[in-house]
Amino acid sequence: MLINVKYIMGSDLIKKHKITVGNKKYPLSIERSKTRKKSYTGLYDAKDKKFIIKVPYFFTDNDSLESFNMLFRNTNLTEYIQEREIYYKQELQKESRFSFKQGSTFLFKGVEYSLTINVNEELSKPEIKLIEDKIMITVKRKEENSEDNIKKIIKKWYKKNARPYFKERIKEHFYIIEDHSKYNFKFEDLKFRLQDNKSTWGSVNYKIPSINLTWQFIMLPEKMLDYIIIHELTHYASPRKRNNMHSIKFEKNMDKFLPEHKEIEKEILDRYTYVFQF
Ligand SMILES: [Zn+2]
Repeated sequence: MLINVKYIMGSDLIKKHKITVGNKKYPLSIERSKTRKKSYTGLYDAKDKKFIIKVPYFFTDNDSLESFNMLFRNTNLTEYIQEREIYYKQELQKESRFSFKQGSTFLFKGVEYSLTINVNEELSKPEIKLIEDKIMITVKRKEENSEDNIKKIIKKWYKKNARPYFKERIKEHFYIIEDHSKYNFKFEDLKFRLQDNKSTWGSVNYKIPSINLTWQFIMLPEKMLDYIIIHELTHYASPRKRNNMHSIKFEKNMDKFLPEHKEIEKEILDRYTYVFQF
């Protein structure tokens, strides 16, 4: 790899340089920080289409450029830039995945519905109905159809539907506790809570038997909800080894209770992680 570094112009704190990759030139920003002691780091910023190298305050321009060369010496910059740009585009798509306007689409139990908003002044509170391939929302006044308000209405509706449905699915898989667990509590004793956590799909508590599930699973196909429920219940059937929640025994149990669990997990990760951003 050959980087052609050319000094352009600069202030005292950030000096601008250019990196040539293939036949394109990209700006390089040197960002000096007083809290950074000796380490440096760098990346390609796909939003601004520039490289950034973050270095300690006392690094000279040459130190910084040398650090840049060290950091990327084994990297194919053309491929790296491409990867970063694809990733950036995907992230943008995720963010803009949800809009709350006429014609926006929403998933419910894995099926897609398109949003229709009506006004009915006779109503006392907003209504939601699924009719064929539509999710119909009726509000009392025209002003109530702001995206924020529609989002609130849909979220409330999702959670209201999730509660009995998730419980029914937990009951379906409760044989994991009855037949395979040393914890012998009854289904009625298992506390259940919907959580709003974007980073954890579910969790269990061993002391008070309880299961927390992320409500956004209401959007996904049933097998994916079942996957997270079976995963959580399997914790009660697989003794923990110190801090290792997912022991070999746990994996073996998962293979037994849901042989295709790895494929399902992959499908969630590949296609559906954006739903957790709702
Ligand atoms: Zn787990």
